[in-house]
Amino acid sequence: MKRARGWSRPDARVATLSLWLGLATVAAHTLRIRNAGLPAHPDPVPLAILLVAFALTEGFAVHVRVRRGGHAMSLSEIPMVLGLLAVDPTLLLCVRLIGGAVGLAWLRGQRGVKLGFNVALLGVQTTASTMLLRALSGPQHPSSPLECGPLEWLYVLIVMLISDVIAAVLVTAVIALHDDPGEWHRLPGALRGLPLVAVTTSIGLISALAIDRDQRAIALLAIVSAVTYHAYRAYVRQSQGHQQVEELYAFTRALDGPLDTGGVARIVLEQARDQLRAERAELIVPGPGGTCHRLSMHGRHRLDIGTEPAPPEHEWWRPARSGTPVLLAKGHRIGAPVEDGIAVPVPLSDGVTGVLLVADSLPDIPTFGEQHVRLFQALANHASVSLAKARLLDELRREVAQKEHLALYDPLTELPNRQRFQALTDELRAAGTPLAVLLIDLDRFKDVNDALGHDVGDQLLRQVGERLQERLGGRGTVARFGGDEFAVLLPDIRTREVAVAIGDDLSAAMEQPIPIGHLRLNARASIGVALAPEHGDDAKTLIQRADVAMYVAKDTRTGMRVYTADDDRNSPRRLAMAADLREAIQRRDLMVVFQPKLETATGVVVGAEALARWHHPLHGFVPPDEFIPLAEHSGLIRPLTLHVLEVSLRRCAGWRRMGHDMHVAVNLSPSSLQESDLPDIVARLLGQAGVPASALTLEITESSIMADPTGATVILDRLHALGVKLAIDDFGTGYSSLGRLRELPIHEMKIDRSFVQRIAVDHRDRAVVRSAVQLGHALDLMVVAEGVEDEQTLLHLRREGCNLVQGYHISKPLPADDFAEWLTARIPQLGGA
Ligand code: C2E
Ligand code: CA
Ligand code: CA
Repeated sequence: MKRARGWSRPDARVATLSLWLGLATVAAHTLRIRNAGLPAHPDPVPLAILLVAFALTEGFAVHVRVRRGGHAMSLSEIPMVLGLLAVDPTLLLCVRLIGGAVGLAWLRGQRGVKLGFNVALLGVQTTASTMLLRALSGPQHPSSPLECGPLEWLYVLIVMLISDVIAAVLVTAVIALHDDPGEWHRLPGALRGLPLVAVTTSIGLISALAIDRDQRAIALLAIVSAVTYHAYRAYVRQSQGHQQVEELYAFTRALDGPLDTGGVARIVLEQARDQLRAERAELIVPGPGGTCHRLSMHGRHRLDIGTEPAPPEHEWWRPARSGTPVLLAKGHRIGAPVEDGIAVPVPLSDGVTGVLLVADSLPDIPTFGEQHVRLFQALANHASVSLAKARLLDELRREVAQKEHLALYDPLTELPNRQRFQALTDELRAAGTPLAVLLIDLDRFKDVNDALGHDVGDQLLRQVGERLQERLGGRGTVARFGGDEFAVLLPDIRTREVAVAIGDDLSAAMEQPIPIGHLRLNARASIGVALAPEHGDDAKTLIQRADVAMYVAKDTRTGMRVYTADDDRNSPRRLAMAADLREAIQRRDLMVVFQPKLETATGVVVGAEALARWHHPLHGFVPPDEFIPLAEHSGLIRPLTLHVLEVSLRRCAGWRRMGHDMHVAVNLSPSSLQESDLPDIVARLLGQAGVPASALTLEITESSIMADPTGATVILDRLHALGVKLAIDDFGTGYSSLGRLRELPIHEMKIDRSFVQRIAVDHRDRAVVRSAVQLGHALDLMVVAEGVEDEQTLLHLRREGCNLVQGYHISKPLPADDFAEWLTARIPQLGGA
C-alpha cells in the first residue's frame, strides 16, 4: 500500500501484526480444528455461491464513523452463518479468505498492507467462530441447520457477536499501531454496531433453515440482503450526516475561544485528520519568494511548522489555491508521495489563499471520495474564519523572519554569521565584483576566557566586533564565524596593497586597549587575506585560503599575511615537521650555537647568545623562524627551551672554567612566561651546571610581556629575585610603553637588528637607534645592538654610546666547540689591541 515511498515504520508494524494473525489462524486451524477429527459435513449450499456471497458482502460494506474511530459494517454474517452450520471448517476458511480477498481488492480497491491486514482479520474471525461454536455445542454438534434448535441458534448468535468484537479490537489495534495510540479510547464507540450483528445473524439463521429445506430460498435471501443493505446504508448516511453537522458545530465552538495561532492550527489539523480519517493533515500557506509555510500534523498529534520551497504548481498547488478542491491520486506529492489525499482552498487574510490538505486514508476506509471532499471543504470554510481571526499570516511571517535572523546572524555580536558572509561573498562574485576576504583570529583569546571568565570573553568579542565595524565604516561587512574568529568582506578591492592597508587599519583599531569594567584588555589578531579573483572565485575557496594565510600569519607572528600557494603546501608538511621536531628534541639532536656579545668600547667578549639550530634529516637546515613557532603551536616549546637552557648553562660553565668571565643569553618564548614553574627550573639548572645566576641572561620579546602583563610580571620578578638578568629582545618592534618598561626588572635592552643594520646609510634609523640608546640609559639599562654587519655600523654605535654589540661582523653564531676555539684565539688578539 505504501510501496511508493518505501515501507514506513507504521506500515511495517501493521504488516508484522497481520503476519502474526495469519500464523495464529493457520496454527489454530491445523492443531485444534482439523486434528479434532470432526466429521465433514454435506454441502447443501454450493461453495461457489458462498464464495460470491463473501466477495459481495465484503465488497459492499457500509462505513460507520465513530469520531476518529470508524468501522466497516458488512452483511458477511449472513453467509458466515450458512457456512458455520453446513460447511467443513477448512473449506469455509478457504472460501471466506478467497471471497473476502476478492471483494476487498476488486470491489473496494484495497492493496498492500491494508488488504493483507483485512484478509488476516477474516481468517482470525472465521477460525475463532468455528472453534467457539465447537466449544459451546460440544460433541453433539448439529450436522445440518435443520438439526439446530433454539439453543444452537443462541450459540451462533453469541459466536457472531464475539467475532465482531474481535474485529473491532483488532481494527482499533491496527489504527493505534499505525497512526494514533489514542484510538483505544474510541473502542466502546466502535462496538455500537453490535445490534446490527444480531439482525444479520438472525437473517443468516432463517436463511440456513430455509435453504436446508429448499435451495431455491437463496433467491429470497438475495432479495432480503440487498434491501437490508440499502436500508442500512441510507440510515447510516443520514445519521452520519447528522453527526458531521454536529461535529462541525463542535469544531466551530472549539475554535471560538481565545486561542493563539498555534492553537487554532492545531485544532483545525486535528479535526481534519479525525473527520476525514487521514493519517496526515497539513495547512500550506504561500510564503515569500517561491516558498511556503507548512504546518503539519501526523503521528502523535505533534504540530510541525516549517518553511520550504513551494510544491510544484501543476498537480494541486495552483488549482487548490485558486479555489478548486483536488482529489489527490496515489503518487501525488506533498513533500513525500501520498497514497491518496484531498486538497481544499482556505482563504486567509490579505487575499492570500492557503491549502488545507489531508493525505493517506486510514486502514478502515477504502479511500477518499466525493463525500469526503464536500465534508473537508465545509471544514476548511469554518477554519478559514478562525485562522484569519488568529492572524495566522502575520504570525507565520514573524516566525520566519525570526528563524531567518537566527540562521544568518551571530546572536552574541549581532554580526552576520559564516553562512550569511558566504552568501554575500558569492553574490558579489556572481556579479563579477573583485573583492578581498580578511579572516581575523584573535591571538590568545583562550587565555582571556580561561583567566577572566566567559563573561569578559563575550564582552571582549562584542567590543572587537563593534570596533571592527566602526573602523571599517561603509567599506565592507564584518562577520563573526564563531569563537574568536571574525571575517571582513571588502568589495571592489583590486590590489593586495589596498586590502593590506585596510587590514593594518583594522589591526590598529583592535590593538587600542579595550576597557571592560575596570580592566583594559589588548586584542591582538592574526589576519589572513585572500583576494578574488586572484585566489579564488567563490566564498568557500576564498575563506579557506584566507584561513590558511591566517594560520601562517599566526605561526610566524607576522600579524597579517596575503595568501600564497606556498602556504597551502606548508600545512601538511607542518604536521610531519612537528612530529620530527618532537623526536629531535627528545633525542637531543637539536643543536645550540653561540654568538658572541662584545663590549663596544673595549672589544671584550662579555657573553654569548644561545641560538637553537635544527638540521632536519630530509629537509636540511630549518630556520628558527620556522621551527620556533612550530614548537610553540605543538606544545614543544617547553622541552625545547629546557634543552637550550641546559646546554647553554653547561657550555657557559666550561668557558668560565677556562677563565672567561662570561654570561650566556637564552631566548624565551612568550608562552614560557606563562609557566609558573620556570623560575624553579631555572634555579635547578643553574645549580646543576654550577653557574651563578648573574651569568644567565634571559631574552624576552616586548610583545610577549605585553601579551600577558600581569602573569609575565610575576614570573619576571621571581627570575629577577634569583639573580638572573633579563633582556628585552627585538626592542622597537613591539609596543611597550615607557611606563611599563620602567616597572619591569630589566637589565638589558636589545635594539632590533632591522634598525641597526641601516644606521650607516639611513639617518632616520640612526635617529631611532640614538633615541633607543638614550632611552635605555635613562632607564639604567645595558643597551645592546644586534645585527652589526660591518665596521661602519660598529663605529656609529660606539659613537652613540651603545654598550654591547652582536652581529656577523664580530662573528656568526658558532657551534659550541668552534665558539670555544674562537674565544681562545681572540685573547692574544685582544692583548695586542
Ligand atoms: P633573535 O633572538 O633576535 O636572534 C638573533 C638573530 O639574529 C639570530 O637569528 C641570529 O643568527 C641573527 N643575527 C645575528 N647577527 C646577525 C647579523 O649580523 N645580521 C643578520 N642579518 N642577522 C644576524 P636566528 O638564529 O635565525 O634566530 C632567529 C630567531 O629565532 C631569534 O631571533 C629568536 O627569536 C629565535 N630563536 C632562536 N633560537 C631560539 C631559542 O633557543 N629559543 C627561542 N625561544 N627562540 C629562539
Ligand atoms: Ca635573542
Ligand atoms: Ca633579537
